[in-house]
Amino acid sequence: MVGRIKANGALNAFITVAEDLALEQAKAADEARAAGAARPLLGVPIAHKDIFCTAGVRTTCASRMLADFVPPYDATVVEKMRAAGCVTVAKTNMDEFAMGSSNETSYFGAVRNPWNQDRVPGGSSGGSAAAVAARLVPGATGTDTGGSIRQPAALCGVTGLKPSYGRVSRFGLIAFASSLDQAGPMAQTAEDCAHLLAAMAGFDDRDATSLDVAVPDFVAGLRGDLKGLRIGIVKEHFAEGVEPRVLAVLRDALREYEGLGARLVDVSLPNSGHAVPCYYVLAPAEASSNLARYDGVRYGYRAEGYRDLEDMYKKTRGEGFGPEVKRRIMIGTYALSAGYYDAYYVKALKLRRLIADDFTRAFEHCDVLAGPTSPSPAFALGVKNTNPVSMYLNDIFTIPINLAGLPALSLPAGFVDGLPIGMQLIGRYLDEGRLLNVAHKFQEVTDWHARVPAGF
Ligand code: GLN
Repeated sequence: MVGRIKANGALNAFITVAEDLALEQAKAADEARAAGAARPLLGVPIAHKDIFCTAGVRTTCASRMLADFVPPYDATVVEKMRAAGCVTVAKTNMDEFAMGSSNETSYFGAVRNPWNQDRVPGGSSGGSAAAVAARLVPGATGTDTGGSIRQPAALCGVTGLKPSYGRVSRFGLIAFASSLDQAGPMAQTAEDCAHLLAAMAGFDDRDATSLDVAVPDFVAGLRGDLKGLRIGIVKEHFAEGVEPRVLAVLRDALREYEGLGARLVDVSLPNSGHAVPCYYVLAPAEASSNLARYDGVRYGYRAEGYRDLEDMYKKTRGEGFGPEVKRRIMIGTYALSAGYYDAYYVKALKLRRLIADDFTRAFEHCDVLAGPTSPSPAFALGVKNTNPVSMYLNDIFTIPINLAGLPALSLPAGFVDGLPIGMQLIGRYLDEGRLLNVAHKFQEVTDWHARVPAGF
C-alpha cells in the first residue's frame, strides 16, 4: 500500500505518508486478527484528509501556516476509526484550509485527477477522492463545508457522503466555517461508506454541536428495497447552466431508479439561487474568526525579521496564508464589521433560513432528492483558479445542503468524455441511512463505481 502510494506520487494526492505508524498499526491489526478479532474495518488502510489532527503526524491543512504543525492529539474521527481497526497510512492533499473546489489552492501544489491528469480532482477533499479513485487506498476521510466531499467524489468517480450536521464530531478538525463543517467518508461504494460512517458517527462531548442521538445500523440498512420510494426531482437542478450531457447521464440514472420501483416527483427549491452568495458571506465570516488564531504566537508559522508585535502579525499572516485564504478573511472581516453586519451577515442568516425551509417543504412530497452533484465534469487545471466567482459556482448544487444542515451523498452515475459524473442524493435530517440504502441499490444494478482509471 505504502509502495503504491509512493509509486503514484505524480498525482500529488498525499501530503504526508505515515509509514511507521501504518506498519505499527497494521501489525497490531494482524495480531488482533490472529487472536480471533473480526471487526469489519480491522486492518483496513485509510487516508485522512490533512485537516484532521493526527497525534504525532504532521497536520498541515495544506497551508504554509501549519506546514510543520504536529498535533499532540487525534481528532475524534481519527480516534474512533482507529478503535474500529483502521490503519492510518497517509494524510491527503486538499485546498488550503479547505477553501476551494479544485485543489489548486494547496500550499503543496495541485492534485491531479486520475481519469485525466490535466484535469482537477475537485476540492477541497481532492487528495482523498483521487487516492480512492486510483485505488491507492480503499477509503478516506473528507470534510464538507460547501461541497468538499461530494464535488471531488463526483469529479473522481467515487462515492462520498456528507452526514447531517452534528452526526459526526468536529473535535480535532481544523475549523473553517464551524456552522457548516462536517466530516464524512469517501470510498468506492456506498456499502464501504456505510462501514466507515458507522465507525465515525456518534455523540462526542468535546464538540458542543455533536448530537446525542442513537446511530442506526447503516450496514444492515443497506438491504431495504426501493419499492414506493419517492424521489424528488428539483426543477432548478435540471435547468440552464448545467452541461446537457451531464443531465442526460442523470436522466438515465433516474430511469434505473424507476426500474427499481421508485417514483419520480417534481419539487422546487425556489430560494436555491441565493445559496452561493449567502454561503460566501457566512463561510468567510466564520473563517475570518476561526483563522484569527494563526497569529505566529502560539503555534504554526512565524515570520522572521519583524520590528514589533504588530509587524510580526502582519508578516506572519501575510507569508503564512495563500491568496484564497486571505480573500476569504478579508470578505469575512468586512461582512462582520460594524455598519455592514446587518446588511450582509444578518441578511445572509435570514436567507439561510429560507433555503432550509425550502427543503422542509420539498420533503413533504418525497423521501430523497436526486440531481447533479456538479454542473460539469472535471475541468482543466489552471482555467478557473484565476476567476473566483466561476470557481465558486461549482458548488451551486452542494452548498444549499450545508446551509440546511442536511445529509447528502454523491455516487458515480456515468461518464462524459471519459470523465465521471456524480449524482447527488439529498436526504431529510439524520436520514443518511436511507441515502446509503438508495445509493447501494443503484450500485447493485450498475457498475459505474467499479470502473478504474487507466493505469491504476
Ligand atoms: N468549494 C467551497 C469553498 O471553497 C466548499 C469548500 C468545502 O466544502 N470545504 O468554500
